[in-house]
Amino acid sequence: MSKSQYDAVVVGSGPNGLAAAITLQRAGLSVLLLEGRETVGGGLRSAQLTLPGFVHDVCSAIHPLAVGSPFFRTLPLEEHGLEYIYPPVDAAHPFDGGGAAVLKRSVEETARALGPDRKAYLNLIGPLVRLWPGIDSDVLGPLTFPKHPVDFVQFGLRALPPATLLTRLFQTREARGLWAGMAAHAIQPLSNLTTSAIGLVLMTSAHLRGWPMPKGGSQAIADALASYFISLGGTLETNRWVRSLNELPEAKAVLFDLTPKQLLEIAGDRFSDFYAGQLRRYRYGMGVFKVDWALDGPIPFTSEACRQAGTVHLGNTLEEIAASERETSKGGHPKRPFVLLAQQSAFDSSRAPQGKHTAWAYCHVPNGSQIDMTEAVESQVERFAPGFRDRILARHTLNTVQVEAYNPNYVGGDINGGIIDLGQLYTRPAVRWSPYQTSAKGIYLCSSSTPPGGGVHGMCGYHAARRVLRDLF
Ligand SMILES: Cc1cc2nc3c(=O)[nH]c(=O)nc-3n(C[C@H](O)[C@H](O)[C@H](O)COP(=O)(O)OP(=O)(O)OC[C@H]3O[C@@H](n4cnc5c(N)ncnc54)[C@H](O)[C@@H]3O)c2cc1C
Repeated sequence: MSKSQYDAVVVGSGPNGLAAAITLQRAGLSVLLLEGRETVGGGLRSAQLTLPGFVHDVCSAIHPLAVGSPFFRTLPLEEHGLEYIYPPVDAAHPFDGGGAAVLKRSVEETARALGPDRKAYLNLIGPLVRLWPGIDSDVLGPLTFPKHPVDFVQFGLRALPPATLLTRLFQTREARGLWAGMAAHAIQPLSNLTTSAIGLVLMTSAHLRGWPMPKGGSQAIADALASYFISLGGTLETNRWVRSLNELPEAKAVLFDLTPKQLLEIAGDRFSDFYAGQLRRYRYGMGVFKVDWALDGPIPFTSEACRQAGTVHLGNTLEEIAASERETSKGGHPKRPFVLLAQQSAFDSSRAPQGKHTAWAYCHVPNGSQIDMTEAVESQVERFAPGFRDRILARHTLNTVQVEAYNPNYVGGDINGGIIDLGQLYTRPAVRWSPYQTSAKGIYLCSSSTPPGGGVHGMCGYHAARRVLRDLF
């Protein structure tokens, strides 16, 4: 490889690496994108993990953040094969005894189903649905002066408090449970500040654009992004694990779609002591235990709403979910963990042989845990879908160590590239003028360890690339 063949090199092809590479290539630069594994995608891969003909999402499955991403929305991804499927119910939340709360595209329908909590729901979410299109780019980016400060503050006032505080707005088991399940996506105790933020973003996204799944699996998003990047003239090389800066061709900018732990290993000697110290103090959060099933039929949920939902939150009441997240954050393994489940094949027949089905689920566990949670996860499914176990043909599991071995970005099983609490919300990975710059000229971080954090939206990569363009080109 000749020197200065590329203006920029991006290491890692997760959604953020792809977003960064596209942003730079679209700006007229020549970009080399390097990926360690044999395929692109990071958290966006799909594979036959169980039996032939069953296509599972190895990591992410449900994509409210991708379909709503202010950056992805500017890309012609449909022309590159991406098609989203929208289940009739975005998310369902069953309770002992058979009933379920639902999150649907219509705010009014969702609110009405909450009975006495209709008004409280409308008061909380209604204004956000109206404000979101004006503030999404500011919320999903580095902290700057917002374009619509009053609206941004309105969102902030709701998003900052712990989820447990906002629960007080609701009286019914249904509304409280639904809210707790949404906020538990924060992967931390619900009493932590800012746990409301993720719940509010997810609920608002459902009302604006839904919680879709890509036809054929999450890999379809990665493939569309990669195809678009290549159509712009970008160069992609897979099977290239980067272990040192010396392995890279000379380029004005190198962007790492990696987390601080790996960045230190690869480029630590280029950083100031102060910055390297900040990276060493970066905090990773709880991990996940993941299960994929090949099934002989659909999941026999008692609740009809659950059968129509792409995503099902299994945790029963607010109290149970809060206790499960608290226990896990203290190093415990709850008998009844909060389980996030997706049933892709119920809406996408390409995912399993005719009449058969797939399901995807994970629960939170302590960082680095190697405890097998299969029994606990399956008990939670069986609790709301009696007969589920009889339909299992095969299963594939990943504990936190295996998740990290699959993708080194998931340190200790943390799927968000570091905990997203108040101390690391906008200041990930370090307190700096721009979180994407490192202390070394030309070296940038573009992964979910930068704002706005985890999830498939590409906004970290987009903002990092914009920083590079401003700084160097
Ligand atoms: C089980 C699970 C479920 C999830 N569910 C969802 C969901 O439903 N919806 C959602 O929005 N998000 C979900 N996520 C989170 C989402 O996948 C991540 O937040 C997102 O993928 C982060 O994107 P990224 O580009 O920052 O990094 P990643 O997607 O992690 O990509 C990093 C890439 O860098 C490569 N790499 C690492 N080190 C090197 C190296 N040294 N050299 C070369 N290449 C390297 C890796 O192989 C990988 O391809 C889930 C994650 C997991 C694990």
